[in-house]
Amino acid sequence: AVGATGAGAGAGADAVKPKKKKEKLSALCKTPPSIVRTRTGRDYRRGTFLGEGGFARCFQMKDDSGQIYAAKTVAKASIKNEKTKTKLLSEIKIHKSLKHANIVNFIDCFEDDINVYILLEICPNQSLMELLKTRKRISEPEVRYFMVQIVGAIKYLHSRRVIHRDLKLGNIFFDPEMNLKIGDFGLASVLPSTDSRKYTICGTPNYIAPEVLGGKNTGHSFEVDIWAIGIMMYALLIGKPPFQAKDVQVIYERIKKTEYYFPEDKVISDSAKDLIKDLLSLNPLNRPTIDDILNYEWFKGPFPDKTHELSLHTTPIGLQ
Ligand code: ADP
Repeated sequence: AVGATGAGAGAGADAVKPKKKKEKLSALCKTPPSIVRTRTGRDYRRGTFLGEGGFARCFQMKDDSGQIYAAKTVAKASIKNEKTKTKLLSEIKIHKSLKHANIVNFIDCFEDDINVYILLEICPNQSLMELLKTRKRISEPEVRYFMVQIVGAIKYLHSRRVIHRDLKLGNIFFDPEMNLKIGDFGLASVLPSTDSRKYTICGTPNYIAPEVLGGKNTGHSFEVDIWAIGIMMYALLIGKPPFQAKDVQVIYERIKKTEYYFPEDKVISDSAKDLIKDLLSLNPLNRPTIDDILNYEWFKGPFPDKTHELSLHTTPIGLQ
């Protein structure tokens, strides 16, 4: 799901997309034909609707061998201006260059008269956002297991100078084996050098780092993803993001002052709090780097051997 500044805060863990944008999207994005033929002559059979973000709609697609994929479809009518076109091309270029066990695999990209199709590895078990909505809070061993996978993928991204810039529960999907996969590279950016900075304000309200909001215009870098890891870890363990409020401006004011607390009735370990506090450091330079995170005490605690599909609905036995 795409992030947008100025979007409503929403009641769930992720921000609600602006209503106007959504109406426009469904008006522009007609359901693709039942068979999509690529210019190179391959046929894909369209299946069920999987979901939509601010920019794209996603459908199941089957190739001739019966292999199922997810096709992110973007209506050509919605990419008329140069800025949108550049953004989509950048998403494709960055995503195409990535290959990691915990990143949604990019398979192919093609177009017909109506849409551009981005064919992706299918993640049929939704995202961490739906998991949290169903389960309300997630146990520490499970979150630890999720975090190792997420940190591994971001370590890979940062080593290639890619900043994701829209990390949030709704952009981290479960594959058929219940492994986590980071998706949606719509706001990702490749830094030309490790010490260069980005200046565009972007992200999703609950997850935006303070230096992106700050008026000093000093730019931002890899540390915005580290901040977002802190937001996700807090949200999974406590049940809602730390700066949650109805009004987006209130969220931003809280972020700028790192005004959050650990509710007394939702007990979590001191070592979890220590890690969250460091991840959510106001000064980006005080946050751990992606290489530091797994050395924290909290990761010495227990892990489940894998995530089972049953965990989508109920807390695993022994972890209640
Ligand atoms: P946008 O860039 O418009 O935000 P997303 O990449 O977030 O688009 O995709 C929109 C929705 O499509 C997601 O919220 C999810 O429901 C679904 N989706 C995206 N990628 C996949 C995938 N690989 N497998 C299954 N569903 C997906």
